[in-house]
This record gives sequence, C-alpha cells and structure tokens, in this order.
Amino acid sequence: VDPVAALRRIGFLLEREHASTYRVKAYRAAALTIAPLDDDQLAHRVRTRTLTDLPGLGPKTAAVITEAVQGRVPTYLAELEAAVAPLVEGGEQLRSALRGDLHTHSDWSDGGSPIEEMAVTAVELGHEYMALTDHSPRLTVANGLTAGRLRRQLDVVRQLAERLGTFRLVPGIEVDILEDGTLDQEPELLDELGVVVASVHSKLRMDRSAMTRRMLRAISDPHTDVLGHCTGRLLAPRVERSPRRRQGSSAGRNTAETGGRPQSEFDAPAVFGACAERGVAVEINCRPERQDPPDDLLALALETGCLFSIDTDAHAPGQLDWQPYGCARAEAAGVPAERVINAWPVDDLLAWTRDHTHRP
Ligand SMILES: [Zn+2]
Ligand SMILES: [Zn+2]
Repeated sequence: VDPVAALRRIGFLLEREHASTYRVKAYRAAALTIAPLDDDQLAHRVRTRTLTDLPGLGPKTAAVITEAVQGRVPTYLAELEAAVAPLVEGGEQLRSALRGDLHTHSDWSDGGSPIEEMAVTAVELGHEYMALTDHSPRLTVANGLTAGRLRRQLDVVRQLAERLGTFRLVPGIEVDILEDGTLDQEPELLDELGVVVASVHSKLRMDRSAMTRRMLRAISDPHTDVLGHCTGRLLAPRVERSPRRRQGSSAGRNTAETGGRPQSEFDAPAVFGACAERGVAVEINCRPERQDPPDDLLALALETGCLFSIDTDAHAPGQLDWQPYGCARAEAAGVPAERVINAWPVDDLLAWTRDHTHRP
C-alpha cells in the first residue's frame, strides 16, 4: 500500500463529500512531506515511531502512513471508501459521455490546491482534458491573476503539460464580465488561451436592462467561449444528509455566510438567443450551491438551441468529481450529449473555441 497515494485518496474522498479544503490540507501536506522519503527511511520512522517529528505530521496522518507501510489498507481510508456512493441519482449517461472539465481553479486564484494536484486528479477521474480557469484581475477577493501572473501561469501550464502525457491541460481563464460588458483581461492574452469562461461576479443586482446589455456585450466578444453561472444565484445551505457531511461542509461556504443570493435579472430569451447565434456555450454549473442555470432557464436555453458545458467550477481536487450534479439536471432537462462541448474530443473542442462554428 503506497502511503502517499493513501493520503491523497483520503483528501480526494473528503472533498468529494464536501469537506473543507482546510480540513483536507493536513492529508495533502503529509503526502508532500513523505513523498521524498524512500521505503527504508519510512520503515525506520514507523519502527521508531518518529513520523510525527516530521513537519506537518500529526497522530492521524501518522496512523495512516504506519498502516500503509505495514501493508494494510489504512482504517480511515477503508471507512471512507466503504461510504462512497453516487452523489446524486440520474445523469449517468451524460456523465459517461463527458471527456473533460472546462471550469476549474487552482491556488493561483481562490482554489485550494496547486495546478498539478488538480490536473493529476483529473487524470485519475478519467478525463482526457481539463481547462484551468483561474480568476481575472478585478476579482481581488479571489486573488485574480494580473496579466503578468497569467503569463507566468501559461509558462507553468506549458511545462506541466509536457509531463502529463496524452492528457491535455488547456490554459484558460474565468474572466470577469465588467459592468459595461467588457472582459477583464488583455485581448491579446485572451487570444493565447484555449478556453475563455466569462462570468458576472459583481453588481449582480443591477437592473434588468443594464444586466442584459452587459451580458450581450460579453457574449458578442469573440473571445467568450462559455457563459459561466449565468444567474449568479447561490442557494441557501441544504440540510446535510449525515453527521460526517455536517462536520466539514464548505460546499456552501458563501451561502453559509449570506443565506443564499437571488438570481440576477436579465432578458433570458435575448441572452440565450445571442449565445445560440454566436455559438457561445451556456455553462451548467455543477456546484451544489449554484445549480445554475435554474431549471426553467435551462429548458429555455435548450429550446433556444444553445450549446452547453457541464463544469464543476472545482476549487479543490475532490470537487472535480461533482459533474454528476450537473449531469443529473441536464439529463432530466433532456440535454443531448452532442450539444455538450465537453463531451467532444479535445481537438474538436479547441477547433470550436477558435471560431465557434466547428462541430465534431
Ligand atoms: Zn465564477
Ligand atoms: Zn469559477
């Protein structure tokens, strides 16, 4: 039993079950600490009970490592594995059609993990590709990337991509739709990216006609590929299903503080009509506290002929496994797989982001 793999798997399973990144951090930190040690060094630490002398290792992580080194599946990991169940009913067909995720965050903006941890987890989930879409400069609360930082990130992504074999790490951005509808990043830099998700994050309550103009302008920008969480709503925290879920639940981090947020008002037929006309995909955001667009708007977008992108908006590796939440809703609404851009092969996807007319 590989102790590093055991620690990473515990982190993944906790996050999948909505534990906070903070709570999971100890397991990831422990994995990083022991990764450089060879088998003999680890075995010696276990024999002499000196694992906890290492930085960041406590009794819980040391117990996991000890059991793994002794050739047993760690008790805590076995408990978590035994509790693994589908997150939601339905959506299995669409989920199996998905090949990647086009909306994810790393610790470069407000995510909790390094790019590599996100990418490797996407590989383990069976994805063929993942777009990294950290926030843009004006979203300072989320440590949005300036043009300079995004350029540095592009270098990091290119280097990492070389080590990931056939898996494609696609450089992207979740760019803010500013109040006037322009996008919050240099156009030349947006040109270099594989995928641009454009989202409204500020002034969500502006009046209906102004919000409609704002969104239409963003959709008409040729850089925009995906319209992110279009209503911006946040649902109030749900009643948790089990005590374990209750402990570290952070899925509704924002809603826990605010008690939810109503959807913003806009002329939905006009907005979805523009998306359909421009070939911009409407995101089906999988986050349980978002479930955006709501059912009525999802039905309208489908009827209007829009493309869709079923994305996790993951801020932590375990959240990359949240696609079933969106797939269940999409399948219930009757969204066919061929209208879902992240069910397309990566080459078709990237040909489409260039001109929005390509279809597989
Ligand atoms: Zn967003
Ligand atoms: Zn996001």
